Amino acid sequence: MVYKRKSFQTLRGMKDILPKDWLYYDYILSNTKKIFAFYGFQRIETPILEKAELFTKGIGKKTDIVNKEMYILRTKENKELLALRPEGTASVVRAYIEKGMFNLPQPVKFYYFGPFFRHEKPQAGRFRQFYQLGAEIIGEGSPATDVEMIIVSQVFLESLGFKQKNICLSLNSIGCSECRPVYIKELKKYYRKYIKQICDNCRRRIKENPLRVLDCKNEKCLFIKNGAPISLDYLCSECNSHFKDILELLDYLDVSYILDKTLVRGLDYYTRTVFEFFLGNEIKRIALAGGGRYDKLVKSLGGTYKPAVGVAFGVERLMDELVKKGKTLVLPKPKIFLVQIGDAAKKQSFKLLEQFRKENIFLGENLGKESLRAQLTAANNLEVDYVLILGQEEVLNGMIILKDMDSGLQELIPLEKIINEVKKRFKKQKSKSK
Ligand SMILES: [Zn+2]
Ligand SMILES: [Zn+2]
Repeated sequence: MVYKRKSFQTLRGMKDILPKDWLYYDYILSNTKKIFAFYGFQRIETPILEKAELFTKGIGKKTDIVNKEMYILRTKENKELLALRPEGTASVVRAYIEKGMFNLPQPVKFYYFGPFFRHEKPQAGRFRQFYQLGAEIIGEGSPATDVEMIIVSQVFLESLGFKQKNICLSLNSIGCSECRPVYIKELKKYYRKYIKQICDNCRRRIKENPLRVLDCKNEKCLFIKNGAPISLDYLCSECNSHFKDILELLDYLDVSYILDKTLVRGLDYYTRTVFEFFLGNEIKRIALAGGGRYDKLVKSLGGTYKPAVGVAFGVERLMDELVKKGKTLVLPKPKIFLVQIGDAAKKQSFKLLEQFRKENIFLGENLGKESLRAQLTAANNLEVDYVLILGQEEVLNGMIILKDMDSGLQELIPLEKIINEVKKRFKKQKSKSK
């Protein structure tokens, strides 16, 4: 019989998050917690699997995310259609309605951080399982809420190390259910004149998801796009004053922004304000975050009317840009290593390790190894400053050897004093390095 050895690989567009990568996720998450908590946001995590209908209804059937990119599966029992969540807002809104959070003092503010799934064409820096962090303010329609969302996003980006002068904010308003249909009619009318010139994508979009033609990056569509009617010209008076208030407040707060007349965002649920934070310039944008208002979503998912606004950040994108900027995070390494020789020493080592842990001193070890040489090699690889050596004789006498790796000097120290001795040396080292 011939055995064929089989090895497995991650699926296309999927990746392992290795320990050195996880440092960056952790860094981003800890900043999220710090900044968003200050503004009154609380963490929520929704399940990865939801009814597919939640997204078709919430995000829109004709959007690329739902139409082309959603992972759908069918349960064995009742053939129910489920989806791996492609984005966060619809699920958070589902939870808000399901758990009756409209009864809480409004607005309710959430943030989330977790994996999402889209079956996209794999390309550099894009994954089919990716992390997103997002925030939602549900139950408040005031322009001040939009501004708060923008400010907290900006502060968060700065907390990660992005410079304010490098982050651009672009803004637009796409109106409400009153004024948007009028605009879309005009947009369609305009594009119909160019139906032979525009790309296939635009031709499909103008029928199915007309606003998205404004997203087209195809060169032959550009000049057509540039001449297209803009939503700001069609806003009803409420939408207009809502947007004006936002701009005034941002001006007052010295937040600079670009009015981006073709910014529409890909999801159906947005109303009024849409915004994006990006690096680079208007021509070569690297989007860090996108968000906007979604006043109709709660109602369309079965709740009562609750205006809301949200934002989402692509975590891998943030990581890539942080690394490009020179942000380096390294795995923590012990500065001291415990070497044990013989059975009694091995047993004693387990106890010693616990004592060091309780004192918050990171002690390296390789308790599975027997030989002195193997353990010293491990210590050398870690480039530790000190090595503790515990042998048969030391255990018997209640002593331990402390070796200074710099000078090579060895000292015999009573076991019960070793923690204090190590602390003393670390302290000395610290004051010397200052
Ligand atoms: Zn309107
Ligand atoms: Zn196009």
